[in-house]
Amino acid sequence: MKKYSRRQLLTTTAGVLLLSVSPVAVAAPSKNNAPSNNQESTSSAQFVAVRVWPAEAYTRATIESSAPLEYKHFMLNNPERLVVDIRNAHLNEIIKTLSSKVLARDPYLKTIRVEQHDAETIRIVFDLKTKVEPQIFTLNPIANFKNRLVIDLYPAVVLTEEDPLMSLLQDYRNGKVRSDGSTKITAKTSIPDQKVDISSAPSESNDVLGDKIREILAKQKKPSTGKIADTPKTTSGKKRQIIVVLDPGHGGEDPGAIGPSNLYEKNVVLNIARACRHQLEKIGYKVYMTRNEDVLIPLAVRVAKARKLKADIFISIHADAFTNPSARGTGVYVLSKKGASSSSAASYLAKTQNMADAIGGVRSTGDSMVDSTLFDLMQTATMNDSMKLGKFVLNHLSKINPLHKGHVEQAAFAVLKAPDVPSILVETAFISNPQEEKLLASAQFRNQIASMIADGVHAYFKSGVSIR
Ligand SMILES: [Zn+2]
Repeated sequence: MKKYSRRQLLTTTAGVLLLSVSPVAVAAPSKNNAPSNNQESTSSAQFVAVRVWPAEAYTRATIESSAPLEYKHFMLNNPERLVVDIRNAHLNEIIKTLSSKVLARDPYLKTIRVEQHDAETIRIVFDLKTKVEPQIFTLNPIANFKNRLVIDLYPAVVLTEEDPLMSLLQDYRNGKVRSDGSTKITAKTSIPDQKVDISSAPSESNDVLGDKIREILAKQKKPSTGKIADTPKTTSGKKRQIIVVLDPGHGGEDPGAIGPSNLYEKNVVLNIARACRHQLEKIGYKVYMTRNEDVLIPLAVRVAKARKLKADIFISIHADAFTNPSARGTGVYVLSKKGASSSSAASYLAKTQNMADAIGGVRSTGDSMVDSTLFDLMQTATMNDSMKLGKFVLNHLSKINPLHKGHVEQAAFAVLKAPDVPSILVETAFISNPQEEKLLASAQFRNQIASMIADGVHAYFKSGVSIR
């Protein structure tokens, strides 16, 4: 994959930045991308790249082209097939390679066949291993990507497991997951069917937020219990394990930052998160990951997963990058309050991190932000705990690497927006700095980072924070 700097992203995607706080990718076709050297009556798109990305959560096929593609699709049974017809397009060497991109281990895809169906139409047949629910959409150019036609193959039957990722992805595709990670049961979705009784909906009803707020406000009035955190009590008095959600940044088509020696942030942070999970489990925590493979998970789904699992804390793990290769050091971020003055570097970072959805390719779900003072009140309590957690983790990380700043920083990261889960984002080191890239490439440093995050988490819970 080609390299890009955050600065390049910033300048090439000014329009997207306006949407940076909510994970919405714009899929409207733009008119200025038609190839200028094409003399035919209708502009014919040139295929410039194809990719197939198999993962457990879903398989993605991406067709990149010089101009927006016009397409339609339909399903065929016995055997299961997905057919995608692309209009005003002609076979070239690149689109022909699509068939060779399918891996034997792909959970959903058996083969792909590409043919010139008629003079103006290319037909792509996806032979499937199982029933899938395809989601097909286009993405405008961003960063180094040109126009993309994205074909996501999701399992048609989602099994309810302990880990809710699959069902959350399904909710997200149906527009039911918001940027604060809450699950949407709105008047809009319930009114058309008068028989739906919202009040009987278990745990996802609108009043969940109200309950949480009352709970947190009650908690705020009480002084901290000072109890050791590895024996928390639930309201029923039963012991339960503390739940930590680790969030390795980026994944799939979104590589994150790329180091001067071609080290990918998405791979480094997955590795660190796995090591951290191991460390935390040894201490006795219950740990979930937002992704445990090389796949793109939308920012809102990452937050929703933490909330669904009733996480006690959420830790997003990244590697920093800047245009100036001398920038270095470890940093920890918490969510900045709306309108709070954060440093320009911090807001710059937030903007670039929040573009992960647009780069990786996430379809717009018509997300709307929750806006109420009660919500803000609850978030304030959460943010106080986030700051406390951030300080413990930063303090431990300072033992193994110099800090970027001597304090916990604040930025408007979309991934930190769970209103009821204390959340931090760790920038482990600068992957754009040649020395720190070397560190990030070493197993020893990755394990040290993982251990320090785990020790910081443990120190936080031992400090006597109240557990929900
Ligand atoms: Zn990152």
